This record gives sequence, C-alpha cells and structure tokens, in this order.
Amino acid sequence: MSAKKETSTFVKVKCNDCGNEQVIFGKASTTVKCPVCSSTLATPTGGAAKLNAKVVRKIK
Ligand SMILES: [Zn+2]
Repeated sequence: MSAKKETSTFVKVKCNDCGNEQVIFGKASTTVKCPVCSSTLATPTGGAAKLNAKVVRKIK
C-alpha cells in the first residue's frame, strides 16, 4: 500500500519584497533566493521546502 500524498513538484511563488514571480522546486534541497532582490524564497527542511514567499499557484 502506498499512501498518496499530495505534493506539488513545482510551485510558482511571488517574492514578498519585490513581487517578482518565479517557479521553484517544491522540495528544494538548497536555499532559493530571488534573482531580483536576493530575498530568500525557500529554505530546505529535508522534506518540502519551507517557503518564505507567497505561493501563486502549484504546478504538477
Ligand atoms: Zn525579490
């Protein structure tokens, strides 16, 4: 039996600081920074990345 867990591979996020929208990997293993203002968008936790930006939409 495999538990079905809804996890999106990619998410589109909007930077809290400059509003730049960017698609990032939902389980990023490295810190993802905004290419425009260098604000941290996501930090790795070992599982799903902790997002520091607003999720605009999820992409499967
Ligand atoms: Zn930014």
